[in-house]
Amino acid sequence: DLSLQKAKKTRDLNAFVTLTEDVAETHSIESEKRFYVTKDPRMLDGIPIGIKDNFCTNNILTTCASEMLKNFVPTYDATVYSRLRRAGACLVGKCNLDEFAMGSGTVDSTFGPTRNPWLYDEHNWRIAGGSSGGSAVAVASGSCVAAIGSDTGGSTRNPAALCGVVGLKPTYGLVSRHGLIPLVNSMDVPGILARTVEDATKVLNVIAGPDENDSTTIKKPFSPITLRDHDLLNVKIGIPREYHCEGMSNEVIEAWSYVTDLLEKEHATIRSVSMPHTSVSIAVYSILNQCEVASNMARYDGIEYGLRANANNSTEELYATTRHAGFNKVVRSRILAGNYFLLTRNYVKYFIKTLKLRRLIQNDFKNVFNRENGVHLLLTPTTLSDAPLYEDFIARYNREQCALQDYCTQPANMAGIPAISIPVKLSSNKLPISLQLMGPALSEELMLNVAKKIQ
Ligand code: GLN
Repeated sequence: DLSLQKAKKTRDLNAFVTLTEDVAETHSIESEKRFYVTKDPRMLDGIPIGIKDNFCTNNILTTCASEMLKNFVPTYDATVYSRLRRAGACLVGKCNLDEFAMGSGTVDSTFGPTRNPWLYDEHNWRIAGGSSGGSAVAVASGSCVAAIGSDTGGSTRNPAALCGVVGLKPTYGLVSRHGLIPLVNSMDVPGILARTVEDATKVLNVIAGPDENDSTTIKKPFSPITLRDHDLLNVKIGIPREYHCEGMSNEVIEAWSYVTDLLEKEHATIRSVSMPHTSVSIAVYSILNQCEVASNMARYDGIEYGLRANANNSTEELYATTRHAGFNKVVRSRILAGNYFLLTRNYVKYFIKTLKLRRLIQNDFKNVFNRENGVHLLLTPTTLSDAPLYEDFIARYNREQCALQDYCTQPANMAGIPAISIPVKLSSNKLPISLQLMGPALSEELMLNVAKKIQ
């Protein structure tokens, strides 16, 4: 009840596409009854959660913040949501995003932008970050204890960083993608936004593990993670030189060295490392993203489901009119670019070449995490600055600016490794600044324990 009230009170922030009052109500009655009979609370009994609106929810509108799926009501639940429900969590609403999760600001939703609650002023507000901005704001504004986002290039960590909450991107395949409407199948992972590392860990323990509906999930059974007061004496942390990129604010760099010192005081070994392919990562990400987008978006043709535009002259015309009306400019331009890169004459020149570069980026991680003399974790900033004002972001908004926002986050998706964004300090504007930890595949336990120290 309190969560719903809070969500309604903060309607201005536009964190939710749909508030699920009926679901919440039936859920809490059932939950109470169940507890009365069994006296056995489930892991997340009664915990209010939000789910990004690109995860299918049975009988509940799932829009991807698009005209194309504005009236789409799925007939099944995403695995992530069914596991959360089974653990007793209670859905408050479906959270706003950039259309089809393409963006870094939650400024490109057909339902309007989401607003950052920090220093909120109706006429002069900051972006929430994206694309899971609605999920981050649902947590930051107190409507939900945790929310699910998706992370393809940083979409969970980026809004978490700008809204001052924790954002966890698990290892690729640790959490099922079944029911997550795909952006880039080889990089998408459900992400977790929560106020603390402890809360994020509890949610991970509920949603992680193999799923027969997603053949890319890791087959090994998942053992729940425990947090303890971890000694950092034997932990080696790498600071990758190449993450000092142009446009990074001084305050972010200061926060980075502040936390490095802090970890050193806790007896961790700090080492400067080099990851030479970091600077090509943005371009590689963008080409691979557009190629997969071109193929994934082909299903929206106005025939089977989703929007159907009024066009009666030919099937071709029906496809074209529907897709023009159903997708915003960002989505349309990625489809065009992706199809260009996949043309027979460009396939080897662009697509195959970027796959090779992706391997080199993955190898950079392999080298720094190498067993004999490598580091255990990497520490970097999450975003280049604190949350920009909406007006400034929009004025500077072009593809390059948007891509820059992901400079520190997208390499982890290309390597499939886990990463977490943790708020560490306030900037002179009194806005959160966050740092990121990354580790080798399936190193969540150590990563979360060290994140807890930093928080
Ligand atoms: N900003 C990136 C993009 O637009 C990341 C998106 C995401 O992680 N979903 O592709």
